[in-house]
Amino acid sequence: MFTGSTTETCTTCPYCGVGCGVIASVGHDQCSVEIRGDEDHPANFGRLCSKGLALGDTLGLDDRLLYPHVDGARVSWEQALDAVSDGLRSTIDAHGPDSVAFYVSGQLLTEDYYVANKLMKGFIGSANIDTNSRLCMASSVVGHKRAFGADTVPGTYRDLEEADLIIMVGSNFAWCHPVLHQRVLAAKARRGTRLVVIDPRETATTAAADLHMPIKPGTDVALFNWLFWRLSCSSAFDQAFTDNHTKGLKPALLKACAVDDASVSDLTGLSYPLLEQFLDLVVTNEKLVTVYSQGVNQSVAGTDKVNAILNCHLVTGRIGKPGAGPFSITGQPNAMGGREVGGLANQLAAHMDFSPEDIDRVERFWNAPNMVSKPGLKAVDLFDAVAAGQVKAIWIMATNPVVSMPQAEKVRDALEACPLVIVSDISESSDTVSLADVALPATGWGEKNGTVTNSERRISRQRAFLPAPGDARHDWQIICDVARRMGYSGFAYETAADIYREHAALSGYENKGQRDFDIGGHADLSDHAYDDLAPVQWPVIDRESNNPGVRDEHGDHRFFSDGAFFTGDQRARFVATPFKRTKKSTSRHRPLVLNTGRVRDHWHTMTRTGNSPRLSSHMAEPFLELNPSDARTYGIADATLVRVRSFYGESILRALVTNRISVGQVFAPIHWTRRFSSAGCVDVLVGPQTDPHSGQPDSKFTPVRIMPLEPKWYACGVFDAEPDKAVLDQLDYWALAKIENGWLAEFAGSSAAGDFVNRLFSGEDCCEINVANGGQRIAMFEKGRLTTCVYVAPGAPVAVDRSWLARQLSAPHDQLERFRLLAGRPPSGAETGAIICACHGVGVGSIRSAIVEGSDTLVSIGQVTCAGTNCGSCKPEIMALIEEAKKILSVAAE
Ligand code: SF4
Repeated sequence: MFTGSTTETCTTCPYCGVGCGVIASVGHDQCSVEIRGDEDHPANFGRLCSKGLALGDTLGLDDRLLYPHVDGARVSWEQALDAVSDGLRSTIDAHGPDSVAFYVSGQLLTEDYYVANKLMKGFIGSANIDTNSRLCMASSVVGHKRAFGADTVPGTYRDLEEADLIIMVGSNFAWCHPVLHQRVLAAKARRGTRLVVIDPRETATTAAADLHMPIKPGTDVALFNWLFWRLSCSSAFDQAFTDNHTKGLKPALLKACAVDDASVSDLTGLSYPLLEQFLDLVVTNEKLVTVYSQGVNQSVAGTDKVNAILNCHLVTGRIGKPGAGPFSITGQPNAMGGREVGGLANQLAAHMDFSPEDIDRVERFWNAPNMVSKPGLKAVDLFDAVAAGQVKAIWIMATNPVVSMPQAEKVRDALEACPLVIVSDISESSDTVSLADVALPATGWGEKNGTVTNSERRISRQRAFLPAPGDARHDWQIICDVARRMGYSGFAYETAADIYREHAALSGYENKGQRDFDIGGHADLSDHAYDDLAPVQWPVIDRESNNPGVRDEHGDHRFFSDGAFFTGDQRARFVATPFKRTKKSTSRHRPLVLNTGRVRDHWHTMTRTGNSPRLSSHMAEPFLELNPSDARTYGIADATLVRVRSFYGESILRALVTNRISVGQVFAPIHWTRRFSSAGCVDVLVGPQTDPHSGQPDSKFTPVRIMPLEPKWYACGVFDAEPDKAVLDQLDYWALAKIENGWLAEFAGSSAAGDFVNRLFSGEDCCEINVANGGQRIAMFEKGRLTTCVYVAPGAPVAVDRSWLARQLSAPHDQLERFRLLAGRPPSGAETGAIICACHGVGVGSIRSAIVEGSDTLVSIGQVTCAGTNCGSCKPEIMALIEEAKKILSVAAE
C-alpha cells in the first residue's frame, strides 16, 4: 500500500530502448514506491507500458544478491575485491591479457560501461569485452557503418509521428516498444499514417497494420533488393541525391536486380499483388520511416538485411528529413550507451574504431599503459574461447548468458569449467550467478545513478531514489576498485558525474565534426548540472567544434539533413547485398523453423519482471506457438506439453495452437529460465551461426522437430510458499509464476501422482476429493485460509480458471467454498480467464462477457471493464477479441 509521497524522483525506465521517463515517489514508510510516467519526458510524455507501470512490484529484496560471496561463502568487500583483482592479475601474468574477458550488458549505465571498457582496452590490454547487445543490434551497427561511415541513427521518434507511411520489419513493436507503438497509433488516428508490417507471424503489431506481409523467414534481403531496384526505376528515384551524396549505386543495383519480378514471390512467399501494393505505397509516400529490430538483426544475413533497407532510403533520398529515414530501434535500455562507449569488442571507444589514428588518440586521452591494437572476441567466439580454455577468467556484469546465449547449455558447461568466473548482479538465483566463483552484489534500478541513451540518441538520467540494500555497490565503483587494486591509475572517480564528464570529453577530443558521437559540450558539466540534466539528444557540441548540431523547431536533431555522411568523401555508400538462401535448411529430421522473441510483460530472463504478479499473469508459462495443421501432423493438442528438439538441445513448452503462425513455423519466447521452469529455456535450441560481419547470432531461424511429451498426468496448483525444487525436479515438467501471496504452478509427471501430491502436503487441515476419471483435487488450509491447492488430471491438462484460483490463495474458505474450490469452478460471473489488461487485472473472460453484452469498441470495453484505459499495451489484444467475436457472430448469422 502506497503511503503518500515524501519525494519525487525523475528517472528512466530500465527495460526497452524507448527510454521512457518515470517519476518515482517513495512513500512515508520509505518502502512503498509509486510509479508514473513523466509528462515532460520527450520519449513518452507521461505514458508507460505495463512493464514500466509495474516497476514498483520489482523493487523488493526477494532474490536480491546482497553480499559478496567467494566460492559460495559470504565475504567482505575487501576479500571479494582481492579475489577478483588477484585472480585477474595472476591469469594475465601467466597467460597474457587475452586470457581474461568481460561480458557486459545493455542494462549497465553508460558510466559503468565506460570504465569497464577503459579498464579492459586501455589498461589490461585486451579487447575481449563484449556485451549482450551483440545479441540485440550488432548488425545495425555494422550496417550503419558500411552505409554512413558511422554508427548513426539519423532520425527521431517524432519522425514516426510525421511519416505518412511506416514500414515495420522484424519487430513486434506493439509488445516490445509499447509506448512508441501507442505514439504511432495516435498519429495514425490523427493523420491517417499507413502501416505496413513485415513479419512471418500475426502479432499484436500486425493487428493494427494496413498491410501485413507474412514473409518467409530469412528472406528480407530478397524483398528489399527487389524493392530497391524497382524504386530505382520509379518516380521515387532521387537522381540529385544519389548523384551528389552517394556512391556505389550501380554495383549494388546489379546485385539487387537478381531478385526480379519473376522470382520475388517464390523467394519471399508473398503474393505478387501484395508486393505490388507494397511497392505502390512506398513509391507514393515520400515521408517514409522504416523501423526495424531483432527480426532483421538476429540473422546470419543481419548486416545485409540492414543495408538492403538502407539502400532503399538512399535511392529515394528519404533520409535526414522530417518524417523520413531508416530507424533501428534497440531492444535494451542502454544498448545505445554501450555503443557510445565502445562496449562491443569490435569498437574502441566514443564511436572510434581500431584505425592507428583512433588507437593513438584514445591512448593519449586515457594515458593508457597497455592500449589494445586490434578487436577482441565477439560474444559467441568469446564463450567458445572460454570453452576451449583460452579465456581463463571472465567477469560477467548484469546479464545472464547461461540463458540468453545461443547453445546455452554449452555456455553453462564452459563456465563450469572456467577457472575464474566473476559475476556482478542483483539476483542471487540467476542461472549465471549460480556458477560464479566470485559473486558481487550490484545496485539495481532505483538505487543507481547515471545516464542511459535511448533509440533516438536521447541521453536521460537514471537517478537513485532508494538506498543500496545490504552491501550492494554501483558497478562503476566495483570496476574502479578492482582497477586500483590491480595497480592502474586513471580510475580515481568519486562520482558518476566524474565519469560522465570524461566520457563527454573523449567524444569531443580532436573531433571537429568528424565523428557523429560528440557530447563534448558536456565535458565541463558541473555536478549540479549533471544532477539536473534534462533528457537531451546527442550531439551536444562544444563551441569550438565545426559540427553545427542543427535542431528543428522541436529541439530535435536529425543527422544527414545536409546530405553529408561520415565517410571520407561525405558520400553515403550503397552496399551490394546479394540474396543468399540460408544454409540452415529444414530437413526430414527437423522440419519446422523455430523463431524466438519476447512477450509483452516479461523482460529478458525475468530477474525483475518474474517477481511481479501483475506481469506474470499475462503469460504465466513458457509456450510454443504452432499452426493447427502442424499440431495435427505431429499429434499435439492445444495446451498439452511439447518437446522441441534442435541439433543443439531440447526444451519442453506448452503448446499454443493458433492460426497466427504459418504452417512449418513455430515461435517460442526467450524469457524462461531454470528459476521458473524445468526446461523452458529456448536458447538451448539456438545454434552458434552468426552474421559474418557483425557476429550477431541467428535467433530467428532454427530447424527443429516437435513431439508430444505425453506425461501420465497433468497438474496445476497454487502455493503460499515456493514449492521445493528438489521435489519438482523429479517430475517431467514444471513451471512457476508469481501471484499475489504465493505461486501458481503447472506440473506434469509419469510417476505416481499420489506420491508427488503427498510430498507437497504436510498440514492437518486438508480436504480432498478423487474425481471420476481418476483425477485428484486436494486443498490445505491454515487457520481457515487456503495455503495450497492442487488439481491433478490424468492424461490431459487441468481445466480450471487460473486467475480465479490465484485469487483464492490466502483467502478464508468456509465449508461450502471449500467444495467449490475443489470443484474448480468459480461462481458464475467470477470467471476471469488469462489476464489481458495487466494494469487493471482484467481477464479474457471478463472482456468476452462485455462483448457478449454489447460492448464492441475499445472505448466501450474500457468503460465497462476498465481494460485498456491505462497504459494501452493490451489494446491490440482487446481488438483481436472484438474481431474474433464479430467473426463468430457473422458465421452464426450465416
Ligand atoms: Fe519502459 Fe515500456 Fe517505456 Fe519500454 S515502452 S521504456 S518498457 S515503459
